[in-house]
Amino acid sequence: MVRQSYTIATLGSHSALQILKGAHDEGFNTLLITTPNRIHFYEQFPFIKKIISVPNFFDYKIIENKIKDKKTFLIPHGSFNAYLSVEGNKKIKIPYFGNKQVLEWETDRQKQRNWLKEADINLPRQFADVEDIYYPVIVKSYGAAGGKGYFYAKNRKDFENKMKKFGTDQFVIQEYIIGNTFYIHYFYSPLTKKLEIMSMDRRYESNVDSLGRIPLTGQEGLKIEPSYVVVGNSPLSLRESLLPEAFAMGERVVATSQKIMKGGGLYGPFCLETVITPDQKFYSIEISCRIVAGTNLFLNGSPYSWLIYDEPMSTGRRIAREIKQAINQNKLSMIID
Ligand code: ATP
Repeated sequence: MVRQSYTIATLGSHSALQILKGAHDEGFNTLLITTPNRIHFYEQFPFIKKIISVPNFFDYKIIENKIKDKKTFLIPHGSFNAYLSVEGNKKIKIPYFGNKQVLEWETDRQKQRNWLKEADINLPRQFADVEDIYYPVIVKSYGAAGGKGYFYAKNRKDFENKMKKFGTDQFVIQEYIIGNTFYIHYFYSPLTKKLEIMSMDRRYESNVDSLGRIPLTGQEGLKIEPSYVVVGNSPLSLRESLLPEAFAMGERVVATSQKIMKGGGLYGPFCLETVITPDQKFYSIEISCRIVAGTNLFLNGSPYSWLIYDEPMSTGRRIAREIKQAINQNKLSMIID
């Protein structure tokens, strides 16, 4: 078996368990790179065949130097941008699943908006000038993650009061879309040229998702402010009449990326983070161009992956399957950067 001489590796956090379980199920060797304090935890999982210790995740060179085997594929996940930065991701020489050109389009907020706009995706309005704001808004500091560092303002007075305490001049002011959040997990295969919807989740955010549990009369006078800190995820299915548009949005995003980016555009797993309004329109608040943590709910697959695969198919396993097919078809250069 050709695959057994290949290894799939990732960093020990975020969705590493899902990625390595999927790699193991597809017949690959598995390797985890992690910090000493997490080794004991990850040793509990027999599908992780080798664990390498690094002092931290910030230095791409240390990681690179630890992996000598050229037949190793590195699978990026949400922690890669957070720890290694875009530069670290670009410089690392280990074969990397995904197109690194996408990183710039994803991390530059304006470029990301241009991409999604060109793909005909509805976006919340953004306001450059305080005089132009329509309320309510959400104010987002740059570089925030997991919903930390955001505030909600219902009107100008509220906005001005909160700005005084905000402590950064690097932020965007965005129309607050009132609706239901749906995070749609896609996978695009350059080998089959097909898009798949793998699964969907919503984030469970503290405290905004709990405010409805206390009646307004009980909140009055308490000065509770909504915050958006992710504390969990829950699975969702989408009303079926909305599924064709969810699928079409993913296809448009991929097709546009192929026009505007080098290296074949966006492929592999990605996620459109959307809010659906009562008139059943999707608004995208962000795109993540790799496996997202919400897919961890679906280690055994989801109702959507079950429609395509008669076997459990997580996003982690789908990545390994793509690599396996690329090896078998001699097309690794199409999926490795
Ligand atoms: P990450 O980088 O971890 O994906 P983030 O910190 O960039 O997260 P977002 O995904 O942009 O955060 O937003 C966090 C949460 O804030 C969303 O899940 C949603 O509840 C809320 N939110 C963000 N933008 C809007 C918006 N324009 N309208 C309504 N709610 C929003």
